[in-house]
Amino acid sequence: MSEPTSVAWHARTTASILTELTSSDAGLTQAEAARRLAADGPNAITGGHAVQPWRILLAQFKSLIIWLLVAAGAVSALLGDRVDAVAILTIVVLNAGIGFYQEYQAERSIAALQLLSAPLARVRREGAELEIPAAHVVAGDVLVLAGGDVVAADARLLQAASLHCIESALTGESEAVSKQATAEVAESAPLGDRDDMVFMGTSVTTGRGLAVVVAVAMRTELGHIAGLIEQADAAPKTPLQHRLDAFGRVLVWAALGIVGVLFGLGLWRGTPLLESTLTSVSLAVAAVPEGLPAVVTVALALGVMRMSRRRALVRRLPAVETLGSTSVICTDKTGTLTFGQMTVRQLYVAGARYSVSGAGYGPEGEVVVTPTAGSVSPTAAALGALAEVLVGSNSSQVALCDGVWRAIGDPTEGALLVAGQKAGADRARLDREYPHYHDLPFDSDRKCSTTIRRMGDGRLRAFLNGAPDVLLAHSTRIYTASGVRAMTEADRATWVAENTRMAQSSLRVLGSCVRDLADAAPDALTADVVERELTFVGLSGMHDPPRPSAIQAVADCRAAGIRVVMITGDHPHTAAAIAQELGIAPAGAPVLGGAALDAMDDAALRARVQDAAVYARVTAEHKLRIVRAWQSHDAVVAMTGDGVNDAPAIRGADIGVAMGRSGTDVTKQAADMIITDDDFATIVAAVAEGRGIYDNIRKTLLYLLAGNTGELLLMTVCVVAGLPSPLLPIHLLWINLVTDGLPALCLATDAPDAGVMQDTPRRRSERIANPGFLRSMLWTGVLTAGVTLAVYLVMLRTRDTADSRTAAFTVLVFAELLRSFGARSSTLPLWRIPLSTNPALLGVVTLSFALQFWSHHNTTWGLVLKTTHLPLIDGVVLLLLGAIPMVVLELQKAWRRHRTASAPQAGAWAVSAT
Ligand code: ADP
Ligand code: MG
Repeated sequence: MSEPTSVAWHARTTASILTELTSSDAGLTQAEAARRLAADGPNAITGGHAVQPWRILLAQFKSLIIWLLVAAGAVSALLGDRVDAVAILTIVVLNAGIGFYQEYQAERSIAALQLLSAPLARVRREGAELEIPAAHVVAGDVLVLAGGDVVAADARLLQAASLHCIESALTGESEAVSKQATAEVAESAPLGDRDDMVFMGTSVTTGRGLAVVVAVAMRTELGHIAGLIEQADAAPKTPLQHRLDAFGRVLVWAALGIVGVLFGLGLWRGTPLLESTLTSVSLAVAAVPEGLPAVVTVALALGVMRMSRRRALVRRLPAVETLGSTSVICTDKTGTLTFGQMTVRQLYVAGARYSVSGAGYGPEGEVVVTPTAGSVSPTAAALGALAEVLVGSNSSQVALCDGVWRAIGDPTEGALLVAGQKAGADRARLDREYPHYHDLPFDSDRKCSTTIRRMGDGRLRAFLNGAPDVLLAHSTRIYTASGVRAMTEADRATWVAENTRMAQSSLRVLGSCVRDLADAAPDALTADVVERELTFVGLSGMHDPPRPSAIQAVADCRAAGIRVVMITGDHPHTAAAIAQELGIAPAGAPVLGGAALDAMDDAALRARVQDAAVYARVTAEHKLRIVRAWQSHDAVVAMTGDGVNDAPAIRGADIGVAMGRSGTDVTKQAADMIITDDDFATIVAAVAEGRGIYDNIRKTLLYLLAGNTGELLLMTVCVVAGLPSPLLPIHLLWINLVTDGLPALCLATDAPDAGVMQDTPRRRSERIANPGFLRSMLWTGVLTAGVTLAVYLVMLRTRDTADSRTAAFTVLVFAELLRSFGARSSTLPLWRIPLSTNPALLGVVTLSFALQFWSHHNTTWGLVLKTTHLPLIDGVVLLLLGAIPMVVLELQKAWRRHRTASAPQAGAWAVSAT
């Protein structure tokens, strides 16, 4: 579609825009939208992070190592050793091939994930509303906007009701601006004053709107800005990757230094220059851990894929690392720890208690009076009045999907709707007789929702449902069986007592109120004006069972030294009752309420935060304070959220977690991770994966570097002692690529250790290459080098150099291969790590064993690997000798297990049971 540039959309009438874009209020047809999408391309700013295979391939040849190898091949050819030259060049190609394959896979899976967590947009097409990927929005589409949405494209408003947007992404202005479809905007108006437009990438805070898309992708205002700033090409590196890059550089120089010294020493001893060069180059190749960055990328990417299969979408790669060190999880209650499937069980109106039967959101069920001592005799009129409010202030619906009644919209409202209908109200009749006039939708700071209707007599009446304590504070009158009267202190006490009674039996309690209003324009009917001087009508107590998976996950967190903190907008008693059912806090544990938090300054909160596991009646702002307070104790905090207001807390947390189902776009955009099933257990599973990924990276590095250390030590000792080199260049390269390289890859992608959630969280500041790591690396290197050297020395006494080399090479390969099995866990004994969970490792090791034995018996293959004939029995003896390092390391593990089992466990965040 051609789109005239320099059109001031904001200064034109909607009619002319709709005509120009050949669209209408009903939106485009699907066919036309598809045609435009094909013609104009996707609505994306970056132009998409298309994975470019040739770039990845080229990157493989950027490394110094590759060129060292090519040089080594050339030297071999110069020396007249064709087989060696070909073997080395083959290794170059293989090395590049494997590197390419890994990185390509990693990039592809990350790109696939970005698609999964891509934003959606609500549009109207052919008159019907539907959700499509924001990238599929085209010019002429009609966007349907509501609070919490991120605007998908630049669009001209057709309708707006109390619509407010935050446009800080474009204008830097952080206050929400009011939008009107009918605003008169001058052609020359600056961006911030175009009140009849909404812009891509800005967010809707409140209200609703309908807007026709005038520009997409790079033609939007955001696109102009993005076009000005150079786009960073690749995915950003994680802190771990940065640290490992630095560590890798140190290793490169250390290795090259040693190799340089050995080269000089060799020359001094009279080794021919070319041979000495070749050995040094090969040793450099073997010693430098060039596979290190690839290993990290692959481990991260695969882990992230695994998480997505467990319904946790990671939006920022660095979050994966942080996840593993999470020490506190602050979580919502409703829908996350509980099912969020609510059924009203009790009603209270005009002094009488009722119980409600029925299951889920199904319409079957009855409301019967619960006889209570001294209760007022119930009247049908009173129950009817409550039912009218329950249904009257309600924008939810229930529908039969696949044989199950489900709430469409807010589940709390769904439950109220069902209860109201059981109690006799009729939604359709209400809508007909008292037509809808204006809405003040629920938000978790006000804790109530209001619907204003035009009553039969033409007056306006507000129907409210919300948190009883909040509504009571704004109520001045009560509804009784004998009419409405002023509320006394005694009435207030009765209502509070009723509320407490229901909340203590873990019911989520909502109050219902009404208020008659003077006629006014919808825009004048703000929450401040409407939600006061209320008449309190009744209470509803709904049941929302805890998720069994959450109970298990809370227990897992306890074992893993992770504190679980429940933060809810719900009543303290309900919160406490549910917390107890879930095992988050014992009975009688303190609950910090929003009012108490307001009374505390940050220092006071800091002093108490470690003792509080439950917060109730909080607002979004409190969440951020709680995050900060924990962080001041050096905790790594994960925080969940769903509403727009939660975005600051989610950003402030180390791991911001957005709910996939109930969360708004704004929250999702602020989050590091999106939980697609809203289940608390998924967060905990993601933490476990995070720990597993870190573990995998650590053990892979240890395995690789310990192997390199062994080779370097062996070669150094022999050169210093004036012995012939025990390993030929091709041996070093072979070990590097096959016996170390392939198992290392399998370790990097290992299934997480079953024990990952049995330890306390790793410190945020902990480094992989800590002293313990370096000690292990050296010790393992000494073990392998020692065994190999012993074999080599013994062989040299009785056999020629070629045979001795074959034996040394073989025993080193065996030692490395066997060690890879034990390397899978730093705590579990070898026989407790099932081989079935890493079949690739088993395959790779078996293949390597076979190739090694084969080289002793097949002359051609022996020629390539430069090995001599070795009787099978000798091979078996070497295998047994090669097992020595693994056995020693296993014994060490056993000893360490024994020591930790007898010492009392002192976790950093040991859960206090008080
Ligand atoms: P949470 O999700 O932690 O339970 P919310 O912030 O969603 O807390 O809700 C806080 C309180 O607001 C609830 O306890 C309830 O009293 C009230 N509330 C929740 N949802 C609605 C709604 N849709 N309409 C009216 N009031 C609601
Ligand atoms: Mg909620």
